[in-house]
Amino acid sequence: MNLRAGIALAEAGGAELLHVDIMDGHFVPNLTWGPDTVCAVKKAAKIPLDVHLMLDQPEKFVGPFMDAGADRISVHVEVQGARQACEFVRARKRLCGIVLNPPTPASALKTLLPLADFVLVMTVNPGFGGQSFIRECLPKIREIRSMIGPSMDLLVDGGIGLDTAPLAAREGANVLIAGAAVFKSPDPAAAIRALRAAAEAARSSG
Ligand code: ZN
Repeated sequence: MNLRAGIALAEAGGAELLHVDIMDGHFVPNLTWGPDTVCAVKKAAKIPLDVHLMLDQPEKFVGPFMDAGADRISVHVEVQGARQACEFVRARKRLCGIVLNPPTPASALKTLLPLADFVLVMTVNPGFGGQSFIRECLPKIREIRSMIGPSMDLLVDGGIGLDTAPLAAREGANVLIAGAAVFKSPDPAAAIRALRAAAEAARSSG
């Protein structure tokens, strides 16, 4: 009901991507949106739609979500079918991301990295919103930044707030995904501006 208003507030705050988590109730114990809802988001949004498939057999789902308007789509390195899903995404000239869960080492990325346009590091265990940031993931962010070089997008997803955004940015994350910190704030646009300022300050201070 308030989808359009929420998206407009995020855009007003300077959000550059709209990140949507898709869960299947299997790879993660929760269910969220299908392609129809993603299609409604796409219609309401001006900024690109970044669809994170937290599910098994992603090769079966990348097509429907690209049809629904996903501009960027990411799949978990831990699931079977990740390679084929990435090939489908690239064949349709969308941006393809590889996701690593908190326990998954950076080395798991190697075989799929040639197919990746960006990498996403989960800093909570996927499945539910509002969890706290797992600080043990910070060295992995730095390790992946050194693997992928300076120009590829490195996204961090989970527990991002004013306290944790600088930590992730300092390790080399350049795209921060925030949920509760924005949408549970009384002023989502201001919350985005504050997160960005905190991350930029951390980056410039090294
Ligand atoms: Zn996500």
